[in-house]
Amino acid sequence: MYTNRQLFLQFLAQTSDSPYLLEIERAEGIYLFSPEGKTYIDLVSGVSVSNLGHGDTRILKAIREQIDRYTHLHVYGEIIQQPQVELAARLSENLPENLDCTYFVNSGSEAVEGALKLARRYTGRFRCIAFRNAYHGSTAGALSVMGNESLKNAYRPVLPGTTFLDFNDFDSLDEIDLTTACVIMEPIQGEAGIILPQKGFLEEVRERCSRAGALMIFDEVQTAFGRTGKLFAFEHWNVVPDVLVLAKALGGGMPLGAFIASYEIMKVLRSDPMLGHITTFGGHPVSCAAGLASLKVLLNEDWMGQGGEKEQLFRKYLNHSAIHEIRGMGLYLAVELGDAAKIREFMKLAIEEGIISDSFLFHDTAFRISPPLIISPEQIREVCSQITGLLERLV
Ligand code: PMP
Repeated sequence: MYTNRQLFLQFLAQTSDSPYLLEIERAEGIYLFSPEGKTYIDLVSGVSVSNLGHGDTRILKAIREQIDRYTHLHVYGEIIQQPQVELAARLSENLPENLDCTYFVNSGSEAVEGALKLARRYTGRFRCIAFRNAYHGSTAGALSVMGNESLKNAYRPVLPGTTFLDFNDFDSLDEIDLTTACVIMEPIQGEAGIILPQKGFLEEVRERCSRAGALMIFDEVQTAFGRTGKLFAFEHWNVVPDVLVLAKALGGGMPLGAFIASYEIMKVLRSDPMLGHITTFGGHPVSCAAGLASLKVLLNEDWMGQGGEKEQLFRKYLNHSAIHEIRGMGLYLAVELGDAAKIREFMKLAIEEGIISDSFLFHDTAFRISPPLIISPEQIREVCSQITGLLERLV
């Protein structure tokens, strides 16, 4: 008789030699519960997915109702499915005018693939500009615009024609020229350790893209749906992209991705050749129903509006000499300890203490705080006190 742990290690492909190996039986709000009755605080929302926490009753109800109507009917783009059309319309209502046409896929990587194809097709150019330490996903195209060799080099050759610039380097923006199909970027770099754009940087990229006729793609897979205190992070700046890439919290806990552009741009995918981008499960009706329910809650209740205050609470309570800096905005924060060994030790202690945090793919001296937006001020105070207690134990 094997334990679940043995089955997990034997029969599931592993992505590292050091998985968390937590067994979780149930999740509710900001908490995950093990079969032995141990409680864990989810301080990363399953990596920016569970923005309304776990088990929101409105989302669960929408999922159940949709399952009772139908699940998969046909490939994306052939049949009118109510949750899909309603979610697309609702997204556009809450986006600038030019972002009025949504292509649903299944994941962030897949949305990035679609956006890159769209830009190449629309502009007739193939050169993509991306940024060092950017993460856009793990599939071949997304890997090509990943701005870090550590996860990419073993899989070369990747797509040719990609140029990398330093985030916040204004001088390098001359690279955006008439050969450029697109500039793809996260408005706030996530896996780089939560790096905010300097004043005027996004505006300057926007200006250069407009002048060059290149599409500006914002990857908001991690930053959207209230994570930074607004529905979309780009709303903090006076910049509207040509293509917006979404996933993670878009599906309210179910798998869903999307790339959104103008009707005019999106038109190129439908002819010459027709079926320019196709997917079987993209925009799955159950995922769209969950996403729609989640979006309605975010729009009707004030979770996003509380992001700034909750950020300030974390900044106030995380007062410890081991902390060099707290970067980020809203509930998208990096706590900088300036020491990779300390982060490794902290992550170990945190799990023992019942706190699920995470480090960053391309920045090993900080840990991540991106809890469900529904975390209460009291819960913030409690978890910060636990965290400062753990920092005390770091040598
Ligand atoms: N873009 C960004 C900014 C991401 O953070 C991620 C996932 N961490 C992706 C794209 C890829 O998303 P997925 O894992 O759903 O393919």
